[in-house]
Amino acid sequence: MKALLATYQDAEKKKIAVGHFNISDLWTLKGVVAAAKDLQVPVVVGASEGERQFLGDRQISALVASFRDSDGSPLYLNADHTHSLESAVAAAKVGFDSIVFDLSALPIEENIRKTKAVVEILKGINPSILVEGEIGDIGTGSQIHDAAPDLTRGLTTPEQAKAFVEATGIDILAPAVGNMHGMLRSMVQGKTRKHLDIERIAAIKQATGTLLTLHGGSGTDDVDFVRAIDAGVNIVHVNTGLRVAWRRSLDEALSAMPDEVVPYKILPAVVEATRRLVTSRLKLFNKL
Ligand code: 13P
Repeated sequence: MKALLATYQDAEKKKIAVGHFNISDLWTLKGVVAAAKDLQVPVVVGASEGERQFLGDRQISALVASFRDSDGSPLYLNADHTHSLESAVAAAKVGFDSIVFDLSALPIEENIRKTKAVVEILKGINPSILVEGEIGDIGTGSQIHDAAPDLTRGLTTPEQAKAFVEATGIDILAPAVGNMHGMLRSMVQGKTRKHLDIERIAAIKQATGTLLTLHGGSGTDDVDFVRAIDAGVNIVHVNTGLRVAWRRSLDEALSAMPDEVVPYKILPAVVEATRRLVTSRLKLFNKL
């Protein structure tokens, strides 16, 4: 299996994006792996600090490695939205391929200073680990939100992005380009969609020349996704959409089998719902 950096560089050359999907359990992981295997494309499994606290760093790392080893799927593991040095180091030590170190809530100077220090520490643990930094405001929480946050003041400028990338030594940048974490209720109902600032993405790519991640992928307009990838996005993160599919498929399976108590008869519904959603996103991101 190629190193993650080579996989991202490949995506950059082909003008496609690598899909990143967050998981909180084995059933969702099985769905992600099945989709990637069917389509024969690389995929990144993500676990945020909360997801890692629930699953265990060592346990998720071993699980992902077991799928990787048993069927050769090009499967990588990312420590998503990590806010403390301690949890970044813990993930690096158990073999995560990349770490998103997210100090975007801090003033930019402090974000630069602390992110730079963390890059040095993490590369000291594993020289090939990739570190992603974040600037700007894309809201919080891969959940269903009642109201849209005002993101207009937190949009990333190309000048800020260039200065941040140069000063910190990060491998990947996550900018704020109209994207937001989570879904509005109207997005869950399919009535509205997120739209992206494509010109801003292109200008940030031009200014930094670095790998770019688009966070907040759930509920984004498909045409905007393709235009964002053409403008320089290399990685797309999806979480809330999977959580919605998890909840719906579990509810439906439980109501369809009110007396069933055998987990392996109920839970395949979650695997299948995840597989379907991830397949549709991977086809779009990989332009298949
Ligand atoms: P969504 O929950 O909006 O898909 O965002 C996920 C994300 O960016 C995780 O890093």
